[in-house]
Amino acid sequence: MQTKKSRGLILYNRPFREDDKLVKIFTESSGKHMFFVRKAGKSRLSSVIQPLTVADFILKINESGLSYIEDYQEVTIFKEINADIYKLAYASYIVALADAAISDGFYDAHLFSFLVKTLELMDEGLDYEILTNIFEVQILERFGVWLNFHECALCHRVGLAFDFSYRYTGLLCPKHYDKDERRSHLDPNIFYLLDRFQSLHFDDLKTITIKADMKKKLRLFIDDIYDNYVGLRLKSKKFIDDLDKWGQIMK
Ligand SMILES: [Zn+2]
Repeated sequence: MQTKKSRGLILYNRPFREDDKLVKIFTESSGKHMFFVRKAGKSRLSSVIQPLTVADFILKINESGLSYIEDYQEVTIFKEINADIYKLAYASYIVALADAAISDGFYDAHLFSFLVKTLELMDEGLDYEILTNIFEVQILERFGVWLNFHECALCHRVGLAFDFSYRYTGLLCPKHYDKDERRSHLDPNIFYLLDRFQSLHFDDLKTITIKADMKKKLRLFIDDIYDNYVGLRLKSKKFIDDLDKWGQIMK
């Protein structure tokens, strides 16, 4: 067991025995680990172990069993996310996605920063649906899915009215549409945007606005990609889908 100082994001906590809790933390320096908090209700740690809390922790990390939280400081809470059921649902989904994408104990400081940055931007009020799409597209590689939304899979030309082909696991340009009679027949703007999402820097994001019908097309296509290549069934994603259905009825 070694003592480490690291930033960390609380992924979730769950009750364990009487009043103890198990807390999953994604740490910047050592990946994800499960921490044991004794008498969590009365513990001075009770506020810092809430989901979506970021802090600088001093941790006792055990590679093979439960780890322990020694101390913490510099706590960040995402107030705007916690105050809005939609933002909270999307934030919970990307956190669950990051949890599913890498195994426990696997060092991935880049994913950690990307996740925390995405949450910060959601909290600042940037479009949470688009932030979620960008996160979903960029995290595909962690699931072993490498999709190129930049060029035709056959001739590698760029900047054309592309369509997606499951047969070629990639884009087809108009000259090669006929290579797959079951190509997706989708709006080429979807792939223009996904290409941007794959290489996007967060500073560019503040200038992107996307209309509601295009957002819906992106949502449907990314769902198809996840169904076909990732095959995850996250409860937090189902919750978003249900929330959207209820949202439609309420309008
Ligand atoms: Zn081509």
